[in-house]
Amino acid sequence: MKGNGTTMDLRQLRYFTAIVEQGSFSKAFGPTTGRLLKSMQEAGIDPASIDAIVCSHAHIDHTGGICSAEGKPHFPNAQIYISQVDHDYWLDDARLGTPFKAFGDHARANLRPVRDRIVFFTDGQEFLPGITAISAPGHSPGHTIFNVSSGGKSFTFLGDLTHHPVLLTENPRVEFAYDWDPKMSVQSRVKLLTMLAEQKTPVMSYHFAWPGSGTHRNSKVG
Ligand SMILES: [Zn+2]
Repeated sequence: MKGNGTTMDLRQLRYFTAIVEQGSFSKAFGPTTGRLLKSMQEAGIDPASIDAIVCSHAHIDHTGGICSAEGKPHFPNAQIYISQVDHDYWLDDARLGTPFKAFGDHARANLRPVRDRIVFFTDGQEFLPGITAISAPGHSPGHTIFNVSSGGKSFTFLGDLTHHPVLLTENPRVEFAYDWDPKMSVQSRVKLLTMLAEQKTPVMSYHFAWPGSGTHRNSKVG
């Protein structure tokens, strides 16, 4: 996992190798980002060995590394898992000519070439062994977080449910300009952070600085 905007979480799960949020390959989020393939090479991990890529939503920093600029899949044997609501929204022609055009362009560039390898999950579904989808709409229409369990332990991957450990985590009712529907996002954030705090489930957040993990407490939630 890496800080500064394009974090990566690579987990060896029970029956397969999955990347949850493979991140952007571009430098759009700063000079320390866009290093996934190089980091995998340094770690001795062959992209062809990746079986699954799990995406919380279709923004560039969550799907931007699925294909090269030429439309060639970086992970030739991987299935791509995402919500159909998010897929359909960002690839809809209606996004063209709107302020969301750039998001739509990046989603098209990365998801269209692998359309026959995309699998849609539904809310509450354990769509891969040990990975369960939890709908968390607001940041984007089909934004989803994931409970990941293996060997009797589990954590919840928060995607973009919260972008900042203070501004949006200690104060989950703050509305965030980059959310598709900020008020819906607040509802999801309060509901799910409250649930995770009550369950004492460890969490991992995509945009937090290293290590980006911990456990929520309810003192400031709600
Ligand atoms: Zn996002």
